[in-house]
Amino acid sequence: MPSFKNLYKMFTLSELRKGLGVTFRNYFRKDVTVQYPEEKTPQSARFRGLHALRRYPNGEERCIACKLCEAVCPALAITIEAEPSDDGTRRTTLYDIDLFKCIYCGFCEEACPVDAIVETRIHEYHMEERGENIMTKERLLAVGDKYETMIAADKAADADYR
Ligand code: SF4
Ligand code: SF4
Repeated sequence: MPSFKNLYKMFTLSELRKGLGVTFRNYFRKDVTVQYPEEKTPQSARFRGLHALRRYPNGEERCIACKLCEAVCPALAITIEAEPSDDGTRRTTLYDIDLFKCIYCGFCEEACPVDAIVETRIHEYHMEERGENIMTKERLLAVGDKYETMIAADKAADADYR
């Protein structure tokens, strides 16, 4: 036997009116969703997306093959091999990042003493062939070359936060 309270609710449609009230209130509120990919939300300068290796303005590679990034990587996603180059500086002969292993923690970027390895704001990328998950040194440098302006601006903005 329904209680008086439930009968009252049933005949006055109070639950329905309460629900419509919520709909009505939210109908006129500003949208919180965006129509991606046409619309995009703001990104932080600290966003951790696709990796890049940077060069100095004279074209010299920043990376000095210290392997700190490889040592700190919790996912063991970085593989580095190195040997002295012709000018006596220590350079990587192999620098791979396995994007399938990477958890985008940013530790490699934090550990790097010369701001060589960075995580850019690029997040719209995909792979079509087997093996494309390995970001080789050449591919990392190409990303760095292409987006250096954005990377430098993000680094400057990040320094302002600290
Ligand atoms: S972001 Fe983290 S998991 Fe990915 S390569 Fe760098 S240290 Fe490794
Ligand atoms: S990217 Fe940075 S931390 Fe990694 S080996 Fe090169 S200089 Fe060292």
